[in-house]
Amino acid sequence: IAPVLQVRDLKKHYRVDTGLWSRRSPPVHAVDGISFDIARGETLGLVGESGCGKSTVGKLILRLVDPTAGKLHVAGVRIDGMRASAMRPYRRNMQAIFQDPYSSLNPRMRARELVAEPLRNFGGGDEAAIRQRVATLFEQVGLRPDQMERFAHEFSGGQRQRLVIARAMALEPGLIICDEAVSALDVSVQAQVINLLGDVQKQMGVSYLFISHDLAVIEHLCHRVAVMYLGRIVEITDKRSLFARPLHPYTQALLSAAPVPDPTRKVERIILDGDVPSPIHRPSGCHFHTRCPYAMDRCRVEEPLLREPRAGHRVACHLAS
Ligand code: SF4
Ligand code: MG
Repeated sequence: IAPVLQVRDLKKHYRVDTGLWSRRSPPVHAVDGISFDIARGETLGLVGESGCGKSTVGKLILRLVDPTAGKLHVAGVRIDGMRASAMRPYRRNMQAIFQDPYSSLNPRMRARELVAEPLRNFGGGDEAAIRQRVATLFEQVGLRPDQMERFAHEFSGGQRQRLVIARAMALEPGLIICDEAVSALDVSVQAQVINLLGDVQKQMGVSYLFISHDLAVIEHLCHRVAVMYLGRIVEITDKRSLFARPLHPYTQALLSAAPVPDPTRKVERIILDGDVPSPIHRPSGCHFHTRCPYAMDRCRVEEPLLREPRAGHRVACHLAS
């Protein structure tokens, strides 16, 4: 069977207007040739610092922005370049959950109507069928029947995200793109929502692309993880390998900076020099060489390709072999 999502050599380059003298600036390589698959029922985490291009990847898949190059297949059907009218069934199959649940909920609609809306838009049956389905969805996401008549502002942040999840689940999509979906919530509420996403996946077999800067959250929910740096995937493998034996120096630094929930796991703190360089003026060779503690002469001139030194573990670094 075709994977739920197949991304091949996806690129998004754009130009920013810099002002008076130069009419056009050099292109920003927001996303610069990334490839991955997501299988049915799988969660792929996409992690990296702010500005690495991970949110743009989500928007490209959702067709909120058009790619500069590359291919997108959803359940075996190519959707990049597809006309809006033809996209309709694929929109239904791909839902999104963003960071701020409040902004995605119409403040004038009652919770019952918010969850019923996608069903009405996509022909979810007669009134009785929709009513029944809404009640089931409320139960699945852990909301009470008496909360149906409330408005979004009457819910807490965690409950609002439950409402957003109910809406996203209503059409039984194959894929949900979660972009910092729990980042705005308190840690205890985060855990509840993450558990809910996991339960929903077990019940319905949905796949997630889980975009987050937070490695602890990624570790809880994901089966595989891709690490992005300046528009590229620098490492991708199953969760266990990534957290136990990260091969890329950038991944090692990210992991060493994260709070360690497991005290038996020894990590030496790696401090990176400087900030993430601008995606307009990326360093030569390995884009990470300006911050890498292991950078060699070769790294300044030769760009490392994504190779597979161990089965299922791909990494872009001259040191990994
Ligand atoms: Fe560091 Fe060189 Fe590997 Fe890049 S290729 S991550 S600079 S060792
Ligand atoms: Mg983002």
